Amino acid sequence: MIVLQRVSVDGRARTLTLEWDDAYAQTLAHALLRAQCPCAACRRARLAGDRTLHVPQDVAIVDVQPMGYGVQIAFSDGHAQGIYPWTFLRTLDAKNAPEKRPA
Ligand SMILES: [Zn+2]
Repeated sequence: MIVLQRVSVDGRARTLTLEWDDAYAQTLAHALLRAQCPCAACRRARLAGDRTLHVPQDVAIVDVQPMGYGVQIAFSDGHAQGIYPWTFLRTLDAKNAPEKRPA
């Protein structure tokens, strides 16, 4: 089993870096993680077609708590229900970032 070794939050770049014990590292935007929140309410909203969840692009991570098999992430918009399992985090990548709308 691949184990998450290190989580670090960059408040200025608004990224979260995950380092795994197979030497793989990911850097994910806070807004992406908020948009992909796996809690029941957010999953329901996405299934209902609200893909963006009205995530403010300046949303930031304020706290990360290890949960054994995943991490619980608290965001600056007050949302902290999401527990992100390791297996789910591994599937997230920059290529899955929400598309930017043309101005
Ligand atoms: Zn959520």
